[in-house]
Amino acid sequence: MAATRPRVLVLGGGFAGVGAAQKLEHADAEVVLVDRHDYHTFQPLLYQLATGLLEQTAVGHSLRDLVERQENATVHQATVTGVDLDAREVRFDGLEPMTYDYLVFGLGAEVNFFGTEGAAEHAFPMYTLPHAVRLKDHLLERWEAADKDPSIVGDGALNIVVVGGGPTGVETAGAVAELYRGVFANDFPELPQEQARVILVEAGPEVFSMFKPKLREYTTKALADRTVEVRTGEIVSSVSPTRVKLKSGEELEAHTLVWGAGLQGNQLVQSLGLELQRGNRIGVGPDLAVPEHPEVYALGDIAAITDAKTEQVLPQLGSVALQSGEHAGEMISRRIAGKEAKPFKYKDKGTMATIGRGAAVVQMLGGRTMTGKKAQVAWGAVHLALLPTNEDRAKAVVDWSGATFTHQRVGRITVGSD
Ligand SMILES: Cc1cc2nc3c(=O)[nH]c(=O)nc-3n(C[C@H](O)[C@H](O)[C@H](O)COP(=O)(O)OP(=O)(O)OC[C@H]3O[C@@H](n4cnc5c(N)ncnc54)[C@H](O)[C@@H]3O)c2cc1C
Repeated sequence: MAATRPRVLVLGGGFAGVGAAQKLEHADAEVVLVDRHDYHTFQPLLYQLATGLLEQTAVGHSLRDLVERQENATVHQATVTGVDLDAREVRFDGLEPMTYDYLVFGLGAEVNFFGTEGAAEHAFPMYTLPHAVRLKDHLLERWEAADKDPSIVGDGALNIVVVGGGPTGVETAGAVAELYRGVFANDFPELPQEQARVILVEAGPEVFSMFKPKLREYTTKALADRTVEVRTGEIVSSVSPTRVKLKSGEELEAHTLVWGAGLQGNQLVQSLGLELQRGNRIGVGPDLAVPEHPEVYALGDIAAITDAKTEQVLPQLGSVALQSGEHAGEMISRRIAGKEAKPFKYKDKGTMATIGRGAAVVQMLGGRTMTGKKAQVAWGAVHLALLPTNEDRAKAVVDWSGATFTHQRVGRITVGSD
């Protein structure tokens, strides 16, 4: 009977939460999935939404749709406000508190501005779907404003500073440069294109520090080919709506600053009474359960999962989140069926990132590397596999192919209020 089934409460509808909920499909359990949004966000494609390559529905997918055929699952849209691990109860904003038998903690990470003055108010972070839409609308608004009054170009209206030489920063800078040179140059032929600068600022000595030197060199050249100005060894010290100040004292005229520089675990974890690991992440055992509370599983970006093979903490990646979520779903199903849990084994598909059309880098676990079109195909294959449904995959292929052949950006419209 449904009422006597154990309740599995899944917090967060990201890769981890959805992976867990879907693997519980055949469990004799009541599965409740709660997220503050009514959609799953495909973060790796946010920069494509921000630069008009994809539309919103290719990056956000209805959560109800994802568990629609799952008889034992329900979805609620609500913000989690507190978790009492001892009482096994979760509190929400606007939804009655809920108790659980098993808890899946998949609330992801949050942007970390590292206390940079003005960043919280004026920077454009790239972590959620509303962030990407806000950046796209802002860029379009600045170009339309310059079209009406070209004198603002000299004040940096079209300049964009991207902070962070990791995948989020590099992918965004490359995509913005292609949008500027390939699309806006045609859309706004009257404007002085050479005065629209894309500047990537990285605190370390090089971009893509996680990749081998030859991939870093390739990336630096690919960015330069796309007219991205790379400034390494520089730290942003303050941000205002029209200016970006660097620690070196230099002031950049730029009406847009994209923040791709840092993450921290969801703030909620601080109130759990657990000892946290670096970056506010919850430490888990080999089966991904929290040692002090074996009925609680922490997964994806919010967890510090140690890889059994390398003994290193796994990076905050979509494939780690999806695989850990699926493992937790399977382990809870096994435990409900009276079987033993098994340790998690991560299948590493390589570290990869795109820089622009036909330019990408891939580094495999064994040390093999790929660049260029081959790497971009590998990136596409790995990321298509992460998309939640076949319809999403088909749609992404059509949009990517369209953009490759026509260089068009179908999403470069602003839908504000009338
Ligand atoms: C711009 C960007 C690009 C990336 N590119 C890549 C890439 O190319 N390849 C790759 O493998 N990985 C990439 N990543 C990393 C990858 O997206 C993450 O590792 C992955 O999304 C983590 O999944 P998750 O389920 O742990 O968390 P998330 O996907 O963040 O999901 C957490 C969910 O919890 C919900 N939530 C949070 N707080 C609350 C609350 N209080 N109440 C209710 N709901 C809440 C959120 O709405 C969200 O749906 C990228 C990340 C970013 C930001």
